[in-house]
Amino acid sequence: MIVYATHSGGRYLPIKDSLREQPEGKRGVYVNLTNQCNCACTFCLRHMKEMAEESSLWLKTEPAVEQVKAELDNLPWEYVSEVVFCGFGEPTMRLDAVVELLKYIKAVHPEVKTRLNTNGLSDLAHGRSTAGDFAGGILDTISISLNASNAQRYLELTRAKYGLKSFDAMLDFAQNCKEYISNVVMTVVEKVENQQEIDKCQKICDERGLKLRVRIYEDS
Ligand code: SF4
Repeated sequence: MIVYATHSGGRYLPIKDSLREQPEGKRGVYVNLTNQCNCACTFCLRHMKEMAEESSLWLKTEPAVEQVKAELDNLPWEYVSEVVFCGFGEPTMRLDAVVELLKYIKAVHPEVKTRLNTNGLSDLAHGRSTAGDFAGGILDTISISLNASNAQRYLELTRAKYGLKSFDAMLDFAQNCKEYISNVVMTVVEKVENQQEIDKCQKICDERGLKLRVRIYEDS
């Protein structure tokens, strides 16, 4: 499934089923571009959720940009409040595709909000500073997984393939994003970390002028 909506109970539904279950009101629509990831988080839902084939976020093949545009073209846009790049994998593994699709969405539906949920490691993935790729108002919100208050704990949780330097690279990326994206939000998952650790995460965000959101475990 490439484009989907989330529903209670942590379910992912094709848009037609989402509309059947909830015929009224706008909703976020999620885009699942890749199953690749440069982390192997201990809490990753990819390894915990069993899904029926028709609602699975496991992709048989990664969709081409034109294929995603065709799915977006078919959306009932009057029911769409926000388009979120998320899914079962790290969207910035396909950074060029994300940027092209963000530009497309803002060109055709400028009133619709856009969000990227990311592990924040795209600078390391691409070997350059990538925050500027989101310039031009194409992305309204970026939600970056902070996960932990220090590099060692971060690596234990995420098992990021770049090692200990991943934590600082993620924070630098977040700070750079503030120049290009109006709403930069750092997240930490409730239950994965205790309150003391969450307080330390808050301090890091305060020092860097970043917002922190504590996510419930099943959140998207
Ligand atoms: S970054 Fe996201 S997709 Fe990748 S392993 Fe961690 S939780 Fe899973």
